[in-house]
Amino acid sequence: MRRSKKYSRPVRPLNIEAAMGGVHHERGRDGTDYKVHHISAGSKQYVCPGCNGIILVGEAHEVVWTEDTIWGAQYGIDSRRHWHTSCWKHRGR
Ligand SMILES: [Zn+2]
Repeated sequence: MRRSKKYSRPVRPLNIEAAMGGVHHERGRDGTDYKVHHISAGSKQYVCPGCNGIILVGEAHEVVWTEDTIWGAQYGIDSRRHWHTSCWKHRGR
């Protein structure tokens, strides 16, 4: 089989930031650039990866993701997690 020529994949415009607004960046201790979006009232229940506890519907929390993954930005966005605000702030301690 002929090897297909390697094209650099076109960068898909990421509208998630524009759609969500209020996203800020945080540099993790491992050097990873995280994006953090504060949700003032969640519309769903989530499990926080920091404490494995439940984030209740209507509870303020943080949505965190990174576009800095070996599988690309979209993978990072698709893998975003919902954290309790305090768990995110105190992670890794
Ligand atoms: Zn938590």
